[in-house]
Amino acid sequence: MNTDTDDSGDLDQVLAEVTEHAKPSADDGKVADYIPSLAEVDPNLFALAAVEMDGTEHATGDSGVAFPIQSMSKVFALVLAMQLTEDDGEGVSEELWRRVGREPSGDPFNSLVQLEREKGVPRNPMINAGALIVDDILLDHCDDVRGSMIELLSDLAGEEVGVDESVLQAEGDTSSRNMAMANLMASFGNLHHPVDDVLGAYIHQCAISMTSLQVARAVRFLANDGTDPASGRQILPPRLARRVAAIMLTCGTYDAAGEFAFTVGLPCKSGVAGSIACLVPEKMGVCVWSPPLEPSGNSLAGRVALSELSSRLNLTVF
Ligand code: GLN
Repeated sequence: MNTDTDDSGDLDQVLAEVTEHAKPSADDGKVADYIPSLAEVDPNLFALAAVEMDGTEHATGDSGVAFPIQSMSKVFALVLAMQLTEDDGEGVSEELWRRVGREPSGDPFNSLVQLEREKGVPRNPMINAGALIVDDILLDHCDDVRGSMIELLSDLAGEEVGVDESVLQAEGDTSSRNMAMANLMASFGNLHHPVDDVLGAYIHQCAISMTSLQVARAVRFLANDGTDPASGRQILPPRLARRVAAIMLTCGTYDAAGEFAFTVGLPCKSGVAGSIACLVPEKMGVCVWSPPLEPSGNSLAGRVALSELSSRLNLTVF
């Protein structure tokens, strides 16, 4: 791999060293505790996986252990919505960007305050409210939104992925805040389907269970101008793949997006189970997983790992 550095060494070795370096930071984070399966997870689990464009896979730690992808699913829901633009015309794109913005929020991912101030139009598709709008639009165009998500992710991961039923159940039992957001947006006329239907699709995508290696494979197409290097299939045209990456970079890690741009310099999307998916344009897909989070809701050791990986291999896009 051409990493443009003197000391990149062997990628397996680099990942092992990055893992050693980052793992202790998990002690300063806090695991999500709004559902039992996240609250009870072993905080010492750690995985770092990287898949190169030629398919070479590298992984450390618990890269074979599955976890709910949670908010990383927002990237793939946005991809499905952007595919509609290709299939059903520019009108879908116009509607999408009229109903959801493209600006970092500067507020927590589940904030209601901003939604009220900004008349039910969420700041971006990477926060919960924005993802609910994306799902609302998908419900208009896909016969089976849940099936489409599973199909896309299984296709990209190269193997069948499924849903963690206990997470699905628990997400449903604790969805008051997401329901409040959906209702608030409905009150502004920015939600067209029944709240339960939209929430059902959203909760389902959050409960999809994948390993870090599967996620690293699945995001590679976004680092490859929209084409899945495994199958050669164009998932998105290059211009749209780059837009997804731009939104990940500016909004994918919530109120820490500036910090991520500064220290990692790569498009990232986090999930509350402690995973972060990361794109290294033209080189590889990466996923790190360490459950304890920093205050913005991103994996703490995950951020340290990506920052270390980026600086060692000089990967920043800037
Ligand atoms: N299921 C979580 C929620 O809706 C997902 C949030 C996240 O991963 N940041 O609150």
